[in-house]
Amino acid sequence: MNLCDIKTVRQIMAMFNLSFRKEFGQNFLIERSVVQDIAWECCEDENSAILEIGPGIGTLTYELASCRREVVALEIDRGLIPVLSYTLGEFDNVKVINEDVMQTDLEALLAPYFEKGKVSVCANLPYYITTPILMKLLECGLPFDYITIMIQAEVADRLCAKAGSKDYGAITAVLAYYGVAEKLFKVPAGKFLPAPKVDSTVIRIRLHKEKPYRPLDEAILFRTVKAAFGQRRKTLANALGAGFSELSKEEIASAIAACGHEPTIRGERLDIAEFTALSDALCRILKTK
Ligand code: SAM
Repeated sequence: MNLCDIKTVRQIMAMFNLSFRKEFGQNFLIERSVVQDIAWECCEDENSAILEIGPGIGTLTYELASCRREVVALEIDRGLIPVLSYTLGEFDNVKVINEDVMQTDLEALLAPYFEKGKVSVCANLPYYITTPILMKLLECGLPFDYITIMIQAEVADRLCAKAGSKDYGAITAVLAYYGVAEKLFKVPAGKFLPAPKVDSTVIRIRLHKEKPYRPLDEAILFRTVKAAFGQRRKTLANALGAGFSELSKEEIASAIAACGHEPTIRGERLDIAEFTALSDALCRILKTK
C-alpha cells in the first residue's frame, strides 16, 4: 500500500467515511521521499524508540516502524484509529493511542521505552498547536535524544534564528536553553493533501544532555527573556522595567551594566548565555528585597 499516493489516500478516507479535519491540522504528506528523509534524519540510532505525534493515516509511522525499534503514536482524532489499524497492521512494533498529546502524561507513557534505550520524537505537527506541543516536549524534562518536527517554514526560521536577527525572539532564546536546533530541509505546500497555504520546514533539535546554562533561578530566566521581548521596540532597560515592576530603573540599569552591556542595548541582541547572566544579576537584586 502506498500511503503517499493521492488516490490511495482518498480511497482510505472514503472507505472509513472520513474527511480531512481542518480543526486538527490534517494535512497529510503525499511525497514518499520526504517521508523517508524525515524518518531517516530523525535520529542516528536505528535502535531508538520514536514518539510520533499525529500519525494521521500512518504515512510517516509506516516509515518509522520500518527503520526504528519501536514507535508509539498519539492521535487525537478517534476516526483515524481504525484506519491506523488497517494501514499499520503488518507491524508489531507500533502502538497507537487515541489521545491529545497536550493531555498525555508523557513521563508515564514513555517510561518503559526509556528503560529499553534511547527515545526521540518525530512528527509532522499540526500547525494550529506547534508551539504548545514543542514547549510541552521541552518542559517535560524527558531525556529525548532528538526532537524532529515538520512545522511552518516561518516558525522554523524563528526557532533557528541567530541572536540579533529579525527572526530572533523569546521562543528562539528559550529553545536554545534546551538544545540546538537546525533546519534540515524545506517542504513545499504541494507535498501535502490537502495543500496548506504555506510551505513547511523540517527542523531537528538535539537536546543538551547536560544544560550548558545554569541560571540561579530558571523561572527568573524565562521571565527575563519574556520581558525583554515583550516590548521589542524599546531598549532592554525599558522592557525589563515593564516586566519587573518590583525593581527600580536604577536597579535594572545596574544589572545590565554588571553584565557588560551598553545602557541602550536591545533585548534581541542577547543570546541565551547572556540572558542567563542577566537573569542571575536580576535575581541577586531581587533576593536583597
Ligand atoms: N503524520 C501524518 C502525515 O505526516 O501525513 C499527519 C500529520 S497532520 C499535519 C497532523 C496530525 O496530528 C493529524 O493526524 C491530526 O489529527 C493530529 N493531531 C492534531 N492535534 C493533535 C493533538 N493535540 N494530539 C495528537 N494528535 C493531534
